[in-house]
Amino acid sequence: MMYKEILVRFGDLTLKGKNQNFFLKSLFKLMKLKMEGLNVDVENQHDRIFIHLNDENPEEVIKRLFLVSGVSSYSLVVKCSTDLQDIKETSLKLMEEKVKSETTFKVNVKRSNKDYPMKSPEVTKAVSGFVLSHHKLLKVDVHNPSVELDIEIRRDGAYLYNTHDRLLGGYPVGVAGKGLLMLSGGIDSPVAGFMAMKQGVEIECIHFESTPLTSIESAQKVVDLVKKLAKYAPNNKINLHMVPFKEIHVKLLENIPESYNITIMRRMMYRIATLLAIKKGCLAIINGESVGQVASQTLGSMYTINSVTSFPILRPLCTYDKQDIIKISRDIDCYDLSIKPFEDCCTVYVPKAPATAPKLEKAQLFEQMFDFETMVAWAVENTNSIIIDKDSDLNLPDLGLEVREVLQELKKNNQ
Ligand code: ATP
Ligand code: MG
Repeated sequence: MMYKEILVRFGDLTLKGKNQNFFLKSLFKLMKLKMEGLNVDVENQHDRIFIHLNDENPEEVIKRLFLVSGVSSYSLVVKCSTDLQDIKETSLKLMEEKVKSETTFKVNVKRSNKDYPMKSPEVTKAVSGFVLSHHKLLKVDVHNPSVELDIEIRRDGAYLYNTHDRLLGGYPVGVAGKGLLMLSGGIDSPVAGFMAMKQGVEIECIHFESTPLTSIESAQKVVDLVKKLAKYAPNNKINLHMVPFKEIHVKLLENIPESYNITIMRRMMYRIATLLAIKKGCLAIINGESVGQVASQTLGSMYTINSVTSFPILRPLCTYDKQDIIKISRDIDCYDLSIKPFEDCCTVYVPKAPATAPKLEKAQLFEQMFDFETMVAWAVENTNSIIIDKDSDLNLPDLGLEVREVLQELKKNNQ
């Protein structure tokens, strides 16, 4: 079939009363940005968007549609003349392509051209009759059809579609404000970042890097993951904040009993993330925690860790099964990167028996053993921020420097 347009719907968005205008403007802008470089025209029409394909390949356009949060479904649209015979034959072709086994269907007709000589019910009857008599696998069911054929008669032609496929849903990224994603090199946190963006939250990323305890490749992996997420971001860019964490890391290894090491390391991360979130105007911290996944993610651990901050923490994956997380990770093209075997600060020197129910009082007591507040303030002060574009060619190992020197250079260039 020669598709002429793609009809895109935004579901939930239409319910948002006063905010509707702001949401729609953001969505339209996002859609245009994600279609950049393609020869298509994006047309905004009340409660939907039409993408005029011109000669563009619909598959490429659909791929791009999956980068736009806030759109709920799409249909591929075929155009024919308004001549009834032409409408009938095009309808039959569409149904033959779609239906290969016995099923039920219904025809819906709308006329935006009120001068058209037939009324909508008459067109419905004529087209259904024609399709039924030629396509023996079909039966009409007007209440609960398996397939619907939509026909819109406009002045310049008739537009037909019988597919209805889901898109990302959610809200246009940015409309919900900004959050700070704790991004490790693992599978979960990029997925958590994607889920937050899908729900309208623009993200900045914070990564705790412990080079040279950890390799430069592990820092590169984080840069590469941010590139993948930047495809969904407004302006295709995300700010990455690299926190120098080695000093705290070493201090913890030297001072804290092994079973509480991770608990306190994570309390430090939350403290630093809170300070940075405030500094960057973020209204929430986002992370990839999932209840029960590891010792630091039992409810008991989460209670003791979380109590260092009153900042809102979003955990989009908190009830997700790992298999479901992996599926999304593959869908957003992060999985192959996430499973690359470079260590990060949570995977070097993993304690043999981490506490699964660490006591708050004990954690507080152990923290008295060193001046963590100065170290936390130093880490925030010395954080290196870089802007990562979806097409960035930044390759840290190529630069032949320690990661901190590289980042400081980049920071200077960015300023
Ligand atoms: P992921 O959860 O992303 O697969 P992980 O399993 O290595 O990585 P966990 O130990 O499960 O990480 O940590 C839970 C969450 O804490 C992560 O999802 C991430 O949001 C955050 N986190 C862990 N390590 C870091 C780090 N080095 N920098 C930033 N955030 C981190
Ligand atoms: Mg995890």
